[in-house]
Parts: sequence; C-alpha cells; structure tokens
Amino acid sequence: MSNSIQMVDLKTQYQRIKAEVDAGIQEVIDNATFINGPAVKAFQADLETYLGVRHVIPCANGTDALQIAMMALGLKPGDEVIVPTFTYVATAEVIALLGLVPVMIDVDPHTFNITAELVEPAITPKTKAIVPVHLFGQSVDMEPIMALAKQHDLWVIEDNAQAIGGDYIFPNGEQRKTGTIGHVGCTSFFPSKNLGCYGDGGAIMTNDDELAAQLRMVANHGQSKQYYHDVIGVNSRLDSIQAVVLRAKLKHLDTYCASRRALSYMYDAAFDGLPLTTPYCAPYTTHVFHQYTLQLHQPERRDALRAFLAERGVPAMIYYPVPLYRQAAFAPYWHGSAEGLPVTEQLCASVISLPMHTEMTNEHFLQIIEAINAFFE
Ligand SMILES: *Cc1c(COP(=O)(O)O)cnc(C)c1O
Repeated sequence: MSNSIQMVDLKTQYQRIKAEVDAGIQEVIDNATFINGPAVKAFQADLETYLGVRHVIPCANGTDALQIAMMALGLKPGDEVIVPTFTYVATAEVIALLGLVPVMIDVDPHTFNITAELVEPAITPKTKAIVPVHLFGQSVDMEPIMALAKQHDLWVIEDNAQAIGGDYIFPNGEQRKTGTIGHVGCTSFFPSKNLGCYGDGGAIMTNDDELAAQLRMVANHGQSKQYYHDVIGVNSRLDSIQAVVLRAKLKHLDTYCASRRALSYMYDAAFDGLPLTTPYCAPYTTHVFHQYTLQLHQPERRDALRAFLAERGVPAMIYYPVPLYRQAAFAPYWHGSAEGLPVTEQLCASVISLPMHTEMTNEHFLQIIEAINAFFE
C-alpha cells in the first residue's frame, strides 16, 4: 500500500470493504446482469431510504444528472438559469449546452455559496431556474432560496455533487438531506466524491411523482414504454457493478462524513494563529467536507506554499483557480464588468485545499500540519 499522502485515499478505503465489494461484483458478472440489474434497483431503494426522498433516478454521471434535470423541467433555449461562478464547470456547462443562458453570480465570502440576497438582483423575466451548489460539502442556506423561488415561480435544481450525506436545518428545526430540498437534486458518484463508485455514476432526486416519471423518461431515450418515444431524451444509466460499490459504501456514508468532520476540527485547531482563514461552518448545515479549503491572507504566497508542501510530500489543490466568466467557453455569457465579481476573484486567488478523506493516519496528519506551520514560521 502506498505510504505517501494522497488528496483522497481510495485504496485504503477499499481494503475495508473489499470482501463485500468483490463478492457483489463477482455476482454481477456470474449473473450477467450488467445493466439495470437487481443491484441498481437495490441501491436506488437504499439511497431513497437514506435520503428520505420519494424518488432516486440513477444515471451515468453528475453532469448528466444536471442535464436530465433541466431537460425534464422543460427549460427552453433562451431561458435564464442562475448559477454561482465559483463552482465546477459542469454546473454551467449543461445550461449552455441546452441553449439556456447561464447567469453567473457571486458567492458569500464565508460559505463560498450563493445566497438569496445574491440571487434576487439577477432575476429577470427570463429567469426560469436557480442552481444552488453545496460547495465543498456545505449546504446552501436553502430556506430563503426556496422562498424566493416560490415568489418568482422558479425551479430550484440542487447541485449536490459535493455534499451527499449532509443535512440542512430549516429555521423551524426541521432537518433534511441536501439534494432533497429543491424541486430536483443532482449528484455525482465520481470516485473521489464523498460517496464515489469505481467508475462514473450519478443520480437525480425528487419528491415530485410527475417530475420523477419525466426524469426517468428523459434518462431512457425519452421513452415511457419500450420503443415508444414521447420526448427527445438521452441514454444515461448507472451500471450494476457501480451500484454494488455504492451500496456497500452507502452503509458507511455517515461514518465517512464523521471522519471528514473530525479531520476538519483537527486541522482547524492546528492552524490557529496562522495568517489564513479556516473553513466557516454555517449553523444551518452539517458540513461534510468534500474539501477542506483554506483562504490565505497573503494570496501572493500561494504558489510558494504549494511548492513548499510538495517538497515535503504534502499534496494540495486549487479549487477553483479561474472564475467561470474568465473561462474562454463562458466569456460570451458574461455581461458584467472586466473586474469580475469581488468575492469570486478573491477566492480564486487565495484558496488552497488540503488532503481530505476518510483514512487519514495520525502520521500523515502530523506531516501535513508540520509542513504548513514550518512554511509560516
Ligand atoms: C463533480 C461535480 C459535478 C459533475 O459530476 P460528474 O460525475 O463528474 O459528471 C457537477 N457539479 C459539481 C459541483 C461537481 O463537483
């Protein structure tokens, strides 16, 4: 087994569930139930129970999940969809791909997420949907977003690719899983996500029976009955081998989230007094730390810090270095000023993410914090 520090340690995690995963994969092969096999149905049911949601529609990846959601909601070319500009590209990409217009807005400096206050001024008569992204594992403050959406008759499509297992706590104390609060939620099972498979996978969640039927139809070539195609759809399936892996890992998801949270507390304590800001945890959410992301008070030292850490065997990543509106592909959709949006600009310049996973050893943890403290000495 590798002894070097990884951003995500999937090898050690696999060793702990190897027997179950190996037996399940062998069973799929023995029975040749590769597509739409019993493992997919079982995982779907398990995830519905875990999330407390009426419908889970498995699909091929998280990007497809977002695309299928927007197709099933009947969004039309020219419709505007509000997205954070500080996010992974997939969120905005599918919007543009469908001929919809991504309207890129700034995020809150503490949570890195959109807020109702930031969404409201971006709403126009063409706005049809809002895509809150629960970035780095922390829920968007959903209640004010849902209220705003209701007031303006907008769809809310949650991008839950980084926050599965997390909770959102409503002002009245009611607690719901992220991804089940908007009209539709989308997630990814990419290997390095908090619930990841051993290839590509994704899912769409909804409590709306009619919408669920539409989502299933779009994901399956637009057919409601075999060989009868009601709408233009896509082919997007989760395969049985991935479902086996996900079923095995879902049982441990709460433990995985707890390990990530525990590591975040240890990091927080170790970095006290350094010229950086540790992640903010909003009171209305249980952060599941897809990433542990610091903001450096001296952004000009970020490259030097990263190089210093690399020399000491500590990987670190920049999520995300460039605002969406500065990407060549998205520049045509940007109608704001050349200076861009202040918080996004500041975050892109100052953030750095540290190794965050469920298998951190004490030895590796000490190696990481010693390297960071040495840099700032
Ligand atoms: C990973 C991710 C996606 C896309 O998921 P894929 O399965 O890679 O297609 C979408 N949105 C966010 C925020 C992500 O982190």
